[in-house]
Amino acid sequence: MASTKPVNRPSMRHPSHNHPLRVFKAQEEDEIICSGCELELTGQAFKCTKSDCDYFLHKSCIDLPREINHKSHPDHPLTLLHSSPYGQAYTCDACGQYGSAFTYHCSECQYDVHVGCAFIPEIVEREDHEHTLTLIYNTPCKGLEEGVTFICDVCEETMSENLWVYYCKECDYGTHVHSCAVYEKHEPKKERGGEEAILEALRMESLMNARQELENMRIRNKINNSVIHFGDEPERRYYWVRK
Ligand SMILES: [Zn+2]
Ligand SMILES: [Zn+2]
Ligand SMILES: [Zn+2]
Ligand SMILES: [Zn+2]
Ligand SMILES: [Zn+2]
Ligand SMILES: [Zn+2]
Repeated sequence: MASTKPVNRPSMRHPSHNHPLRVFKAQEEDEIICSGCELELTGQAFKCTKSDCDYFLHKSCIDLPREINHKSHPDHPLTLLHSSPYGQAYTCDACGQYGSAFTYHCSECQYDVHVGCAFIPEIVEREDHEHTLTLIYNTPCKGLEEGVTFICDVCEETMSENLWVYYCKECDYGTHVHSCAVYEKHEPKKERGGEEAILEALRMESLMNARQELENMRIRNKINNSVIHFGDEPERRYYWVRK
């Protein structure tokens, strides 16, 4: 056995991956995707110690709760799985988009929520709507007569009745919880091909900011401000409002 030099950098194990991980600082321009939540990797993170293995995790994705009780699914707890239980991508029951990594899962109902979607704020404000929007766990059209469907007021696409919506009841105004939830000017990224890739990138960007802010709050643990900024980009107008 060849003797190996001791390495100073500490490594750690995570049950989601076979190789040890080490601390990694992600830069925005890296455009790396977290192997757990599938959102853009920013700030403090972890990387696989094998140089040829592209496995990354947010610091916040390292210690996600193993089980949560979520308002969207009151009858059963949701369990954190490190991969899709279906042998193929799952569809997130919150945002309607695919997921292939971590999921909060109910095996009885085959209900799945991205870990990013599981922690989005319950109330948001957006610059182009005068009222706060409240998170609801199905469209307002659910249960109405056949043929009545809800249309997202941002992308104007028909929404399946079980998707979550950021909703203003007063105006009957609502948006998807993925990219449509964030009011900002989007410049499609040129290097990525296809509309789907762009949408996916936008979704990741918006959710990551929501999720990161939530994580920050969890760490700070006592926030009294009524309104907290999401992200640092000046163009973004997306707030967390405490009840
Ligand atoms: Zn992550
Ligand atoms: Zn690895
Ligand atoms: Zn989702
Ligand atoms: Zn269930
Ligand atoms: Zn939409
Ligand atoms: Zn309104």
